[in-house]
Amino acid sequence: MTEAASDHANNACLAELQAALGPQGLRLGEQIEGPRCTDWSGHPPVRPLALLRPGSTAEVSAALAICHRHHIAVVPQGGLTGLAGAAVPVAGGVALSLERMKAIEAVDARAATLTVQAGATLQAVQEAAAEAGLAFGVDLGARGSCQIGGNLATNAGGNGVIQYGMMREQALGLEVVLADGTVLDMLRPMLKNNTGYDLKQMFIGAEGTLGVITRAVLRLRPAPLARATVLLALPDFEAAMALLSRLQAAFPGALAAFELMWRDFVELSLEWKTAPPPFAEPHAFLALAEVTGASEAALQQALEELLAPALEEGLVADAVLPPSRAQAAALWRIREATAEFPTRMQPINFDISLPLAVIGDFAQACVAALEQRWPGQRSVRFGHLGDGNLHLSTDARSLGGMSLAEAESAVEELVYGLLATYGGSVSAEHGIGLHKKPYLGLSRSPAELAAMRQIKQALDPLGLMNPGKIF
Ligand SMILES: Cc1cc2nc3c(=O)[nH]c(=O)nc-3n(C[C@H](O)[C@H](O)[C@H](O)COP(=O)(O)OP(=O)(O)OC[C@H]3O[C@@H](n4cnc5c(N)ncnc54)[C@H](O)[C@@H]3O)c2cc1C
Repeated sequence: MTEAASDHANNACLAELQAALGPQGLRLGEQIEGPRCTDWSGHPPVRPLALLRPGSTAEVSAALAICHRHHIAVVPQGGLTGLAGAAVPVAGGVALSLERMKAIEAVDARAATLTVQAGATLQAVQEAAAEAGLAFGVDLGARGSCQIGGNLATNAGGNGVIQYGMMREQALGLEVVLADGTVLDMLRPMLKNNTGYDLKQMFIGAEGTLGVITRAVLRLRPAPLARATVLLALPDFEAAMALLSRLQAAFPGALAAFELMWRDFVELSLEWKTAPPPFAEPHAFLALAEVTGASEAALQQALEELLAPALEEGLVADAVLPPSRAQAAALWRIREATAEFPTRMQPINFDISLPLAVIGDFAQACVAALEQRWPGQRSVRFGHLGDGNLHLSTDARSLGGMSLAEAESAVEELVYGLLATYGGSVSAEHGIGLHKKPYLGLSRSPAELAAMRQIKQALDPLGLMNPGKIF
């Protein structure tokens, strides 16, 4: 198509979109704010042909049908807090924001379900659940900005995974609009429904490549009446594994966190003075565990009973059981040093997962390999051990003289190459988007990739939904 013909086709499409969505529903040119052109990943911005802001499922459906007729690509956008570049617009395509569809439509406290439009923030869902005396099972740092649609599309994890699972486990029903405008109503609020393929699961974690999530029925959980925290000093990784399984056995379904920090992470955190040193001596590992239950006193007592033999056996070298939530919060600040990464170092971040049994070996082998290649390099390790999720951050400034882009690609090649030999996944929580596309084949077999492409082809034969992402 010539440039003039293409402009003509785009203008025809935009005129139809304008008529379908009204003045509030379409932004063009300079009306599209800069932040809409990229996401938290820092990917270079791309200005879309238009920003669509539908106000209802019917408008999403009309907009997608129009784009489909005109072969215009559509990139769904939530709160733009994604870390993999998955919501970055594509040149010549439109971005479709769910920001006007943010109603909490219903909370059923008896059935413990909540029905919501996809543009509601995670925090709005958490607050609505709390008002009904219940809790929502997923929590993460971007809660005030990220949207339920984005959380579902990335199958987000975060703080509560060990207790309640990822977004996939919170979704009872979904409403999705396909690339051609077809509305799939899968909003059935039942846990059990074995009637053929569970289609809604296809769209969870699909990063907007199969359709636009417009509404969801979510599961709520009983709000815990009390919490207790313990900080454990551990001699080795095996001790961490043993403590994790003892806690899971002693607090079935009530272990809310088990955050493992390697000594390199703790030293950096204490160097930055995020919290006072909790122990006189340094230890190989610290683990922060949190349990929930009916009374704080009962939880404290149960933790003390669990700790006494572990201390005697040498499984735990030392422990702090903070008597108040304020003192517990002070201990959590050691772990929260991650918030300072972007300002205090030039971090190359990894969000990987591995079979539980090999996390310790991998973490050791990985830092040894980095050290051999770049003597004096600085890397720190921490993770949600119960979820098999390891975070590794290497300070690019400690690698000597490379540009950030060179350092990133050299470190990624080393880390992901080693990860593949341990059977790990290049993305535990954040997704593939644009950034991890080159490494997807390390975590998925050619047969799995072929099946994924067939599903994409079946649901979006023109390849218009978020093209160029994941594959
Ligand atoms: C400070 C901070 C902390 C974070 N902590 C965590 C964490 O602990 N765990 C974790 O998993 N992630 C974390 N993240 C990453 C991010 O918050 C999650 O990936 C989140 O789920 C993205 O939601 P969003 O609404 O911002 O989506 P966006 O960034 O807007 O989009 C992400 C993807 O979802 C698609 N999408 C968005 N809305 C829809 C929709 N309605 N229908 C179909 N597709 C859609 C987009 O096309 C894109 O592919 C963190 C990010 C920040 C900035």
